[in-house]
Amino acid sequence: MAKKTIIVSNRLPVTVNKNADNSLSFHPSSGGLATGLSTTYKQGGNLWIGWPGTYDHDQKEQEHIAKELKKDNMAPVFLTKNEVKKFYEGYSNKTLWPLFHYFTEYATYELDLWDAYVHVNQLFCNAILDHAEPEDTIWVHDYQLLLLPGMLRDALPNATIGFFQHIPFPSYEIFRLLPWRKETLDGVLGADLIGFHTYDDMRHFLSSVNRLLGYDSSLGLVKVKNRLVSVDAFPMGIDYDKFEQAADSSKTKQKVIAYGDLLSKNKSILSIDRLDYSKGIKHRLLGFDKFLSRYPEYQGVVSLILLVVPSRDKVDQYQHLKEEIDTLVGKVNGKYSRMNWSPIHYFYRSFSFEGLSALYKASDVALVTPLRDGMNLVCKEYVASKTDQQGVLILSEMAGAAKELSEAILINPNDENQIVDALYSALTMPEEEQRSRMKEMQKKVRRYNVHRWVEIFMNQLDNIKERQTAMN
Ligand code: UDP
Repeated sequence: MAKKTIIVSNRLPVTVNKNADNSLSFHPSSGGLATGLSTTYKQGGNLWIGWPGTYDHDQKEQEHIAKELKKDNMAPVFLTKNEVKKFYEGYSNKTLWPLFHYFTEYATYELDLWDAYVHVNQLFCNAILDHAEPEDTIWVHDYQLLLLPGMLRDALPNATIGFFQHIPFPSYEIFRLLPWRKETLDGVLGADLIGFHTYDDMRHFLSSVNRLLGYDSSLGLVKVKNRLVSVDAFPMGIDYDKFEQAADSSKTKQKVIAYGDLLSKNKSILSIDRLDYSKGIKHRLLGFDKFLSRYPEYQGVVSLILLVVPSRDKVDQYQHLKEEIDTLVGKVNGKYSRMNWSPIHYFYRSFSFEGLSALYKASDVALVTPLRDGMNLVCKEYVASKTDQQGVLILSEMAGAAKELSEAILINPNDENQIVDALYSALTMPEEEQRSRMKEMQKKVRRYNVHRWVEIFMNQLDNIKERQTAMN
């Protein structure tokens, strides 16, 4: 049988919904990862395995879902409501997410959640074993599945296994707080190739491996019980052509017209994130407040378009953060609003693709200031959408993307004064300077797009396997 490639992630690139009449509908995702990997998993006998986003289906529904997904080269891992609660909302988002984003005070360490995490990683492993042949290539994605490479290695010693982490890997001093730190590293090291967005993440991982497990590394290669494991940085890109083409499409132009004065008359500063404490939304609002007070000539002239996409609303900290943002927005608007002008236009919902494209295309400044972010794709999408090369990107040093986008105005998001100064520089930047900075950033974002990212990772996975074979 020909070797195949299996992609594994917590969520499948499709969401299954149960309708009022109990029928099931399937909605494909158009996210960057799904697009980048679509050429891989849709080929031949290749497959994408993951959770379809719903729970508690009876046997008949499960069979129906599996049959429908199979038509598009996908296979489901079914989870119960309780498993989702403990594994996803619990250990993944209340333990790993805060810890890996340096929010140690938010991280909880509960044995019960850890047990559920181990159990669900094993369910993923079992689902893969239903489909995998011993020599297949399996590419596992992200922090929800850190134990899976190790479980797969035990079951399929000859498989080619890749792992990519989409969120930061914290420094050893943070990582070592995790009670299950050794088990976690052992799990990841089941892979042949381990990828992160940046060299710093990679360095942090190797340092934890060394200090907790005692394995040395040289040039990103670690010897794990006579098996050579490669660790490297692969900064993820976007579907550049999609954003570039959309920016000049008639649908986007119509949206820009529909948004009216907001984009055409006033100067606009764009802020787009999922609701998350790692995104620095509160700091950004405080910075904007200070900017309006220090430069009153911008009152009545510049508006912040604040788009917050609802996320993880079952986790306490997210509910609390939403309330804090609501309050801050109200405070700033209450303080500066005029009859014909609002400082902040606040949207707590997601936008259509054309809506996003219009905001990217027509806003003067993008203010992307996460306190910590694995990569941040919003800033790359903004760059790709600026087909006239007019617009300024203000970017946090703490976003993985800052390593590539050095022509942005780079700031420390904890420094309110830097936000204020960066906004002033952005709003007064000469057109020629905007163009030259944007041009350089576009070159990089265009070249290292998501398709290139997949290609480079897959090639390196093949290479390490060849090296291992040559060693034996
Ligand atoms: N996004 C979206 N709908 C919206 C706003 C944003 O689909 O209304 C997308 C955006 O285009 C980007 C992603 O959400 O691709 C956010 O990715 P990013 O890496 O910036 O942050 P994450 O949410 O993954 O932490």
